[in-house]
Amino acid sequence: MTVAVQGAGRPKLLGLDRSGLESLLVEWGEPRFRAAQILQWLHARQIHEFAQMSNISKALRARLEQDCDLAEPEIVREQQAADGTRKWLLALPDGNAIETVFIPEEDRGTLCISSQVGCSLACSFCATGAQGLSRNLETHEIIAQIRVARRALGLEAISNVVFMGMGEPLLNLKQVLPAIRLLLDDFAYGLSARRVTVSTAGVVPGLAQLGRESPVNLAISLHATRDEIRDELVPINRHYPLAELLAACRAYPLPPRRRITFEYVMLEGINDQDQHARELVRLLAGMPALVNLIPFNPFPQARYRRSGNARIDAFRDIILRAGLMTVTRKTRGDDIAAACGQLAGQVREGRSSVPLRVMG
Ligand code: SAH
Repeated sequence: MTVAVQGAGRPKLLGLDRSGLESLLVEWGEPRFRAAQILQWLHARQIHEFAQMSNISKALRARLEQDCDLAEPEIVREQQAADGTRKWLLALPDGNAIETVFIPEEDRGTLCISSQVGCSLACSFCATGAQGLSRNLETHEIIAQIRVARRALGLEAISNVVFMGMGEPLLNLKQVLPAIRLLLDDFAYGLSARRVTVSTAGVVPGLAQLGRESPVNLAISLHATRDEIRDELVPINRHYPLAELLAACRAYPLPPRRRITFEYVMLEGINDQDQHARELVRLLAGMPALVNLIPFNPFPQARYRRSGNARIDAFRDIILRAGLMTVTRKTRGDDIAAACGQLAGQVREGRSSVPLRVMG
C-alpha cells in the first residue's frame, strides 16, 4: 500500500495503518521499525503534538509535522442520555457531519462508529437510510471517531468497537479495512478481534472479502425470513436475496468458537409473528448463530411501530426453545436519538426527499 491511496494532499497520518506508515517512512529513507513507535504515540498514547514523540529524532518529527496532516473533525455537539449513552456530532471539512455513539455497560464500553456519510441502502426502517449517501468516510475519519471518544472518556473506556453507526461498512472496505487493522494493531488500539464487529445489510461480495482479510466479528442485518418482506425492509435483498446471503454466511470463514450475529428488528405486524420466528429457526439451522432481536427505534417520518414487549418475548421464546441463542438488545440512548437506526448527522447532497436536519 502506498500513501497515495489516502487521497490528494498531505498524507493523513491518522489514517495510515502499519504498512501504510512503513511505506511512507521507507520513502523518506527512515527505518521501517519507526512505524510501530509512531503508531504508539499517535494512537495508543494519543498525543497531539509531534514534540511529545520523545524517541523520534527531531528531524523526523519536523518532517512529519511539515508533510503530514493530523487534522481531526470538529465536535459540533456532544450529548449525554439519561442512561449514560453519549453521542458526538462531528463536522467534516466538506460540510458533512457524522455521528458516533458510546454505550457504557457494566462489563464493557462499546463505541458505535460510522463508516459512511449517510447510506445508499435505503432500508425502510432506518433514519440513516432515509438520507441517501453523500460519500464514504476515509480511514482517518473513521479513526478520528475513536480518538474523539477516548479524549472525552479516557484511553481505557472503549473495550469494543462496532461498525453499526451510519453507513454500510462493506461498501467502503477500502477505507474500513485499514481502520480495522489499526483497531487490532497492538501498537495502535490493541483490541482483540472478538471485540470488533462489522455489521452489514448483506453485501454478499463484501462478505467474502471481509472473511478473507479480517478475523473480526460479523453481524448480519437479517430482519426478515422471506424475500418479499426483506425486499421491502432491506432493498439490497433484491440484489442478494436471502438464499444467497445465507449461503455466503454458511461459507464464511468463521474463527473457532465464534458465532455470526443475526440482527432482527422487531416491527409490529410486519416481521414479528410466531410463524416468522419458526422460519428464522429453519433458516439458521446448523449455523453457529446468535439472534439479536432489536426493538424498533422510531424516528420522525418512520412508517413502522415497535413490537410490544410481550410479542418480542413470545418471538424470543420460540427461538430459544428451538435451541438457538438469542438476546434482545436493550434500547440505549433513545432520548438523544442515539439508538440503533436513529443516527442522522448531516448529509450533503444525499439523494433523499426527507428534509435533512441535525438530530438532537
Ligand atoms: N449498514 C449496516 C450497519 C448499520 S448497523 C447494517 O445494515 O448492518 C445498525 C443496525 O441497526 C442494523 O442492524 C440496522 O438494521 C439496525 N437498525 C436500523 N434502523 C433501526 C431502527 N430504526 N430501529 C432499530 N434498529 C435499526
